[in-house]
Amino acid sequence: MKNKYGIQSLKKQFPNEETCVEFIFDTLHSRDCSCGGKYSLIKGRRQLQCSKCRFQIAPTASTIFHKSPTPINLWFYAILMFSNAKSGVSAKELSRQLEVTYKCAWRMLNLIKQALRQDTMKKLRGDVEIDVGFMGGKGYGGKNNEKLGEAMARKSIIAVAVERGGRMVAEIIPSTGSQAMQEFVERNIETKATTLYTDNADSYKRLDKTYDRASVTHKRREWVRGDVHVNSVETFFAHLKRSVRGTFKSISKQHLQTYLDAFVWHYNNRHSDKARFEALLGALLQPVK
Ligand SMILES: [Zn+2]
Repeated sequence: MKNKYGIQSLKKQFPNEETCVEFIFDTLHSRDCSCGGKYSLIKGRRQLQCSKCRFQIAPTASTIFHKSPTPINLWFYAILMFSNAKSGVSAKELSRQLEVTYKCAWRMLNLIKQALRQDTMKKLRGDVEIDVGFMGGKGYGGKNNEKLGEAMARKSIIAVAVERGGRMVAEIIPSTGSQAMQEFVERNIETKATTLYTDNADSYKRLDKTYDRASVTHKRREWVRGDVHVNSVETFFAHLKRSVRGTFKSISKQHLQTYLDAFVWHYNNRHSDKARFEALLGALLQPVK
C-alpha cells in the first residue's frame, strides 16, 4: 500500500544491524575517502574502514545509538513504533513489543522524544486558529464551585495555534491573561498576511493592534459563522485528551510539554508514514548536544 510504512517495510529495508549502521554512515558521510579509497563495513563492528588508507569511522559516534548495547535494528523498530503511534506509545508497551526491560524502553523513548522539540524557526501564517485549553491536575470544584479556583490552579494551561491545512504549535503558558497570550502569539505567528480566528475572550483584544482577527462568541452558542470558527483547535484538544487518557491515564505537569512536542510533531508530519519515519530518523542522527 502506498504511503504505508510498517514492520514489513522496515524489515525489508533494515533486516539486520549491519544495514542500519550502513544507513547511518550514508546519511552522515560519503563512501569515497579523500585518499581515493572506498569505505566499507567491518564485519561484526559498528565501524567502516577505508580500503586504501585504512582510516576507520564509527558513524554512530555522537548519535543516541552510540555505546548502546541495544541492537540498532531494534532501535529502528522503536523509532518506527513511536512514529506510527499517533496517540503516543508508553514505555510499558515498547518494553513488551521489543522484549527489553522497562528501564531500557523508558530510556529509548526519552532519547527519541528529546530529538523532537518543536521546530519554532518558521512561524505560522495564513488562517490561524488559536485557543486555550486546560489539562491534568486532579481535583474537585466543590458542590457550589467554591473550590474551583484551587482545582484550576493545579491544571496546566495550553495555548494552541493551528494553521488551517498546515502546521501547529502547542505550548504550556503561564496564565490565560493578555500578556501571556500576546507573547505566545508573537513568538509563533507571522503578523503579515495572517488572520487570527479566536473565541471572544478578552485576552485576545490586545492582539488587534498588530493582527487581523475574527472571533466567534461561544457564550451565544455561535460556534461557527462561515470561515470564522475554531474547529481545528477544538479537534486537537479532544484528540489530545483522549490519547492522554487512553495511553497514559494521566500525565504530570513536568512531562506535559515533552508530550505536547511529540503530539504536535505527529500532527505536522501526518501526511505519510514513510516520510514521518525518515524525518524522525533524520532528527535522531543529528549530533547529541
Ligand atoms: Zn582513505
